[in-house]
Amino acid sequence: MNNYLDTHAAETWVDRFIDQVDRTHQELTELDRRAGDGDFGTNLRAALRRVTAARRRQQVDSVAALFTAVSDGFLHTGGTSGPLFGVWFRKIAAGCAVEPGNRVTLSDLACGFVDAVEAVQRLGHAEVGDNTMVDAMAPAARALTTAAERDTDLRTGLRLAAAAARRGAACTERMLARKGRASYVGAHAAGVIDPGALTVALFFEAASSALE
Ligand code: ADP
Ligand code: MG
Repeated sequence: MNNYLDTHAAETWVDRFIDQVDRTHQELTELDRRAGDGDFGTNLRAALRRVTAARRRQQVDSVAALFTAVSDGFLHTGGTSGPLFGVWFRKIAAGCAVEPGNRVTLSDLACGFVDAVEAVQRLGHAEVGDNTMVDAMAPAARALTTAAERDTDLRTGLRLAAAAARRGAACTERMLARKGRASYVGAHAAGVIDPGALTVALFFEAASSALE
């Protein structure tokens, strides 16, 4: 196993994520129906279909180019989640724009994911605890940073990030939303995991499985 992320591994990561979204989009939509308006899974799949089409049109030649293509797919899709995921992937791509050799280390990823959650927060003004995707993004970025500081290998670092994102997503079940549509339904959204946060957990879990 390489201790860096190359284009091939990143493509496997994104492919696994897309497969997982295809399998769970109904569940994600149902969560958004209970706490929002029920379009989340549709928005997510529309974005990822754009990504797949773009990758068919033009093969990506670096990790940064791949995540930029993912970002573009989201930026061209509706819903609140589209632009938010769009800027998240934009900053992840920037963290992966490394020379020479396109070998992205855990440290590069950690920097990218820290910048990425900050950008999402600048755009959406959500703090941790507001019951949004930020509740999974922030702990995952922290876990990656800690792992990089301890010189953990890439695969373990991403596994720790996935566990942190999954815990963060699980915590949203008990939260009252203060941002997004779920905030309009108040206590009715209690007991519902935020679909955005769950998607972030799926994304990191796809990394762990791709790097096995
Ligand atoms: P819409 O509410 O426009 O239908 P989507 O269904 O596409 O949007 O996305 C809903 C998701 O967006 C939520 O699950 C939540 O994670 C995320 N979200 C909503 N508002 C914010 C915000 N201000 N900051 C971060 N994430 C947010
Ligand atoms: Mg919605």
